[in-house]
Amino acid sequence: MRADLHIHSNFSSDGKSAPDEIIEAAVSAGLGCISITDHNSFEAYDLVKDNGKVIVIPGIEVSSKEGHILAYGIDRDIPRGMSVDETIAAIHAAGGVAFAAHPYRWWSGLGESNTVENDFDGIEAMNARSTASSNRRSEALAARIGKPVSAGSDAHTPDHIGDGIVELPDGIATWQDALDAIMKGKAKPSSSSRRAASTLRYGTKSISEWIFRGFRRM
Ligand SMILES: [Zn+2]
Ligand SMILES: [Zn+2]
Repeated sequence: MRADLHIHSNFSSDGKSAPDEIIEAAVSAGLGCISITDHNSFEAYDLVKDNGKVIVIPGIEVSSKEGHILAYGIDRDIPRGMSVDETIAAIHAAGGVAFAAHPYRWWSGLGESNTVENDFDGIEAMNARSTASSNRRSEALAARIGKPVSAGSDAHTPDHIGDGIVELPDGIATWQDALDAIMKGKAKPSSSSRRAASTLRYGTKSISEWIFRGFRRM
């Protein structure tokens, strides 16, 4: 079963996909499981959890003070703006697991020391909006420190859903089964990567949007 574990809906301030469009795109991309990990929003989950077509793992992408953190299996919203260890503690209190999102991404990634020194349950090894070299480094870091891996497209539009995935073993029927397989290290990541030209655009866009938001990081 193919699972895209990092998708944004229009409940993310920068996402364009309606939750039902995400389900349709996931079916078209041959996915059996997804997680909608909106920036600091857990609202999409209730709209798609009973869609009857793809398994949906409850998730969120939280902005901690040091960078983005993915939470899976949570039962509530996780507040933004806390330190890394406070964010991880809040995720655990909500019954979830905390993954370091795209750790080597300039601007929004946690960086290596924050990733290694905190009590993460796993590492996002591949993200289709990260460069090939940062994906290689993430995957190598997860292997080196022996953490479970996730992967996803980080799609903000329906056409990119499925660009990054993990392959999960057969026989998964619920999101709990899927998360259990991920935490047992059975997820095999694969992903496309961001090209150099779009990385430059991303840098320029990040800074101009940051200024527009009044110097508040996404
Ligand atoms: Zn992110
Ligand atoms: Zn994201």
